[in-house]
Amino acid sequence: MFRLNTPSHRAFGASVASALAAAVLAACGGGGGGPYTTVGAIPTLAAATGPLGVVPDSSTGFTSPPKSATEYDKHLALATANAGTKPAADAAPAPGTAAQYDPAALRTQWCYTAEHTSFPPELSDHNIVPPTQMFDNMWSFGPRWVLQYAFKADNGKSFLIDTLNNTGEAQSITEPGLLAMGSSASQLEGAMPTHGHGDHYGGAGYLQQTYGIPIYLGSADASVGAKATPPFTVTQLDSSNLQPQAKDFGGLSMTLLSTPGHTVGTFSGVVPAKLNGKTYHLAFWGGTGMPGTISLAQQYLDGSERLYRLSAAQKIDGTIHTHPFVDGSLAKLDALKANPQSYSSANPFLIGNALALRSLSILRECAAAKVAQLDATAKIPGWITTAVQVTQATNSPGMMQATAVVTDPFGFVQNGHVNFTAQPAGETCTSYTNAKGVAGCTFPSTATSVTAEFAEGTLSDGTVELASATTAQVK
Ligand SMILES: [Zn+2]
Repeated sequence: MFRLNTPSHRAFGASVASALAAAVLAACGGGGGGPYTTVGAIPTLAAATGPLGVVPDSSTGFTSPPKSATEYDKHLALATANAGTKPAADAAPAPGTAAQYDPAALRTQWCYTAEHTSFPPELSDHNIVPPTQMFDNMWSFGPRWVLQYAFKADNGKSFLIDTLNNTGEAQSITEPGLLAMGSSASQLEGAMPTHGHGDHYGGAGYLQQTYGIPIYLGSADASVGAKATPPFTVTQLDSSNLQPQAKDFGGLSMTLLSTPGHTVGTFSGVVPAKLNGKTYHLAFWGGTGMPGTISLAQQYLDGSERLYRLSAAQKIDGTIHTHPFVDGSLAKLDALKANPQSYSSANPFLIGNALALRSLSILRECAAAKVAQLDATAKIPGWITTAVQVTQATNSPGMMQATAVVTDPFGFVQNGHVNFTAQPAGETCTSYTNAKGVAGCTFPSTATSVTAEFAEGTLSDGTVELASATTAQVK
């Protein structure tokens, strides 16, 4: 299914590099030998030789699905490829731990209801996660199959994502959980069930009737409030607005995203997680089980794509899920229970942007598989993750030589657009990858580090090669 381009090797050896340097100097009006205090428009150093392609590399361990594969099987195979293999521990961005990225578990759970007619067995685990500090401003507690996240806002109040199953759990789990984090239910700013199912809003009526708090819920699910035991009034989030919605709950700034599909009023989003003076970002997917109708399945797929886009734009550092086994959160909470202080030194939720986006790309491919399962005529382009690795970053006086290699799970990405940005001054240079996935630039810079960004592109069959980026120190 991947177009193969004629191999076109462009080595960035010494002679090529010096020729490129001369070209840059000429283009910049230089030639006197520097210093390069200003850098003008940097020319493209290597042009694409054709459309974006992938040159297979058998050493990756994955092969692209055959052309004869059904759409359903294709997307499940891409989900497996996106999950990838377990990264080496030293490949994880600090302070995350690669041990907390489990590709097999993520692949199983994100795709569960695309591949099974029964519920996942983890939903039967009714043991309790005790109040567990995840970040300086964030705790979790509740049953292992469906729990809640509690935030401390800047104004000293607190806020809940999800309210557990019923009044009894609100009294026996939520109230003591808030006390354990140094807050109390009387200090709640509000609560937001992710969607209108009882395991998410069941405690909302009690909390509202006892403490007078607003209950935020997608407008399309709002009718459940009147039927709840006890009933509650809904402060509606606009389900018809599919754009990211910035919300401030007492100084707690979230980005919410209407993602209908699991229910018509499901909300997902990105939350701030504060640690040691820094704010990280965690994405959450508000609905789990995939719908059984094509219309809702298409909306579920659309929502998974918009959450991916939002998460890429906000450079998320990890994910959370109120059914915490789905995205690996339960294993991370267990790790924090075993070593509570590790949250501040080696936080298991901070898996890094690349791995967090890989996780959401599995969800997207599983959602596409579900649409294909319900509609045999569906044709949905795959979304494939890529990785970019800086293989050289050296500074001779005033000139940087940088090379990077771009891969996807199946091989080398050819004719891929790579932008190099030097820090701290921000000089940039653009190049394209060869048949070995290698792009290189030589450009005036006194940088201490360089960021290589592969820009998203599309293969001839419509398959999307997702963007990726990495930063390396200059040697
Ligand atoms: Zn639900």
